[in-house]
Amino acid sequence: MTKLPASGLSLGIDIGGTKTHGILLDADGHRLAESIRPTRIGPDGVVATTIDVVADCLGKVDSTDRTVLIGIGIPGQVDPAAGLVRTAVNLGISELDLGPRLSAALGLPVTVDNDVKAAALGAANHLGIAGGDLAYLNFGTGVAAAAVVNGRLVRGHGNLAGEIGHIPVDPRGDRCHCGQRGCIEVLAGGGRIAERLAASGPELTLVNLVEAAEAGDPTAVAEAHRICTGIALAVQLVVLTQGSARVVLGGGVVHAAPDLVPRVQQILADRAAGSEFLASLGLAERITVIPAGYPVAAIGAALVGMSRSRARQLAPIG
Ligand SMILES: [Zn+2]
Repeated sequence: MTKLPASGLSLGIDIGGTKTHGILLDADGHRLAESIRPTRIGPDGVVATTIDVVADCLGKVDSTDRTVLIGIGIPGQVDPAAGLVRTAVNLGISELDLGPRLSAALGLPVTVDNDVKAAALGAANHLGIAGGDLAYLNFGTGVAAAAVVNGRLVRGHGNLAGEIGHIPVDPRGDRCHCGQRGCIEVLAGGGRIAERLAASGPELTLVNLVEAAEAGDPTAVAEAHRICTGIALAVQLVVLTQGSARVVLGGGVVHAAPDLVPRVQQILADRAAGSEFLASLGLAERITVIPAGYPVAAIGAALVGMSRSRARQLAPIG
C-alpha cells in the first residue's frame, strides 16, 4: 500500500444504504472537508454517488500536486486486493468492480474494504489503540463484527471473518433471511427489530423502547430483553473467539437506544454470577460504545486508504 507523504491527503468514504459520507483528512488526521449525499442504489448509482462525494471534498481544498489516497468502506463481501464488492443487498449490488472503476474515473489510488472492517480500524484509532486488540460490533440493519489483533484486521478466507450475525443462537427463533432460524441478527439486527416494533403497533419505537420497558409494558420488556440477549451473546462470542480486550459497540441500534447498553452489561453480569469462568473474563467491563455522531466508518475508510504502517502512527482522529 502507498505511504502518505506529509503533504498528502486521505479521503475516507463510508457508503451506506441511505447515505454516502466522505471525510478528507490531512496526513496528521485533521479533518479538512466533509460531504454527505444520499446514496443512489445499484452499481452505476453507487459509483456516481461516490464520485460526487470525492468532487465535493476535493473541491473544498487545493489538492494540486498533493498525493490523494482514497479509502472506501462498503457493506457486502469485499475483496480488498481486487477492489471487488459482492452481495451488497441494500445497495442493489450483486457484483461491482468498485475499486478499478473509481480509480479509472478519478485517476487516484482507491482501496476498498468492508464497512464494518473499516469501522473497526476507525474505532481502534479513536481509542488510541491502533496497534492493539479490539472487536468492533456493528448493530445496524444487520449485525456484523470485525476484530483487530495487534493492529491488524482478522480477515479469514474471502474476508469473511466477523459475519457473526448469522450464527444461530436460538433454534426456536424466527426465520432469518439467510434461511436459518434464530440468528443473532434476528434478535438484535435493526431490520428485524423495526419489523417487530411495527407489528406491535404505532406506540413502540427503538427510541422509547427502554423507557416503555421500565414502565412495565410487557411487549417492550420482551423486546428489550431479546435485543440485549442478542448483543450480550455477540459480546461473549467475540471475546471467546478473538480474545478481544475491548468490545466496541456501534451502529444505529445502540445509538438510537443507548439505554440498552447497561441492560446488556447487566445480562453479562448476571451470567457471570453463575459462572466463575465468565466472572474471570469481565465481559461487561470490556464494552465501550462509540460516541453517536462520531463518523467511525468514514474515518476508518480513510485509514483503509492509507498504509497500515502509517495508520498505526496516527494520533487519534477527533
Ligand atoms: Zn441468519
